[in-house]
Amino acid sequence: MPAYLDNSATTPLAPEVIERMEQVRAQTQANASSVHRGGQLARSILEDSRQQIAAMIGGEPKEVIFTSGGTEANNLALKGLALKLKLSTGHWPTLLIARAEHHAVLHPAEFLEVMGASVKMLEVTHEGGVAPSELQKCLAEMAIPERGISGKPLVSVMHANNETGTINPIPQLAEMVHQAGGIFHTDAVQTFGKLPFDVRELGVDMATFSAHKIHGPKGIGALFVSKELELEPLIHGGAQERNRRGGTESPELAAGFAMAAQLCAEQMEQSRRTFAQLNSQLRQRLQAIPDLQIITPAEGALPNILNITFADAERLDGEGLIVGMDLAGVAVSNGSACTSGSQQPSHVLLALGLPAAQARGAVRFSFGRFTTQGEIDIAADALLRVVQRQRNR
Ligand code: PLP
Repeated sequence: MPAYLDNSATTPLAPEVIERMEQVRAQTQANASSVHRGGQLARSILEDSRQQIAAMIGGEPKEVIFTSGGTEANNLALKGLALKLKLSTGHWPTLLIARAEHHAVLHPAEFLEVMGASVKMLEVTHEGGVAPSELQKCLAEMAIPERGISGKPLVSVMHANNETGTINPIPQLAEMVHQAGGIFHTDAVQTFGKLPFDVRELGVDMATFSAHKIHGPKGIGALFVSKELELEPLIHGGAQERNRRGGTESPELAAGFAMAAQLCAEQMEQSRRTFAQLNSQLRQRLQAIPDLQIITPAEGALPNILNITFADAERLDGEGLIVGMDLAGVAVSNGSACTSGSQQPSHVLLALGLPAAQARGAVRFSFGRFTTQGEIDIAADALLRVVQRQRNR
């Protein structure tokens, strides 16, 4: 592929990550729960990886649960906590969820609603973020008993949006939730390794991470859960992960994840500068396309994501744009990877207030550490041609 600009969907493995995983595979393939030496080696690799990730987020190793990825970590955060509260107090929490969250948060919340929990939606601004005033309003409504909303607030707001890149004011939101006696979770899948992330500074009780968005392996992620909180496991089985997730762990994936995180941390400043340059290059090149509208806010967004649409989107074929780009050798997405291919406009872009046609016509460019200026030029030229072709039909 001449230009891979779909790094928010997934990233290619870093060579150092491949090397580290091969090294672990050669060292031991034993079960980390076995008592023999091979098992002990596997255990130490697993625990060293956990320690490395915990140190990077300012948490303790026992606060890091390895999962199969971001989706499972989000499920464990919301369902694991809600079930624990229900089992221990007899009451479900009330969930406050931002409307622009990933489906890996929205769908567990919908499931909990079916089970009997109340779920309230936090509206997002035109830029895609949750305004502190919106959260304050919802928390205040919950405090009025006549409203019939009861239960401990369990609030989930993502650190940055995967479609628009919009960054949420997490410390401020978390503080408000704590003032109201609630629990705060953030889905940090898109920011981990790209923005400094310290659980204590941000004030979050739970946070979700995924390895494959940071040039690490697919099939592993992590949930940070404050040592003050208890979760009900969703996967019952062995006593792995301190009884919070049964199943044989993968030291190889954990070591790959830790290596990927370390590389991101070491190169964070440099990457941020490079992303900002690529972003302004792309914005500048896209000016050549008439009626193109930039969705991603100029300020307060991740520099590695740029989402755009068109004023005349109702005349264009959104899926056709992505396919046309693909045929030109450029990999981009519209909407999140999970919804694209379904003709449904992205729920995130609708939540921002975009008309359905504009949401359907959106194109998301996302960069990774291996993105080059040459790829940006190829992508901008391809989009110009594909849009012109559609407009001339
Ligand atoms: N949360 C966000 C914000 C994401 O972008 C994604 C992936 O697209 C996920 C969660 C799901 O993570 P995973 O693919 O590791 O299950």
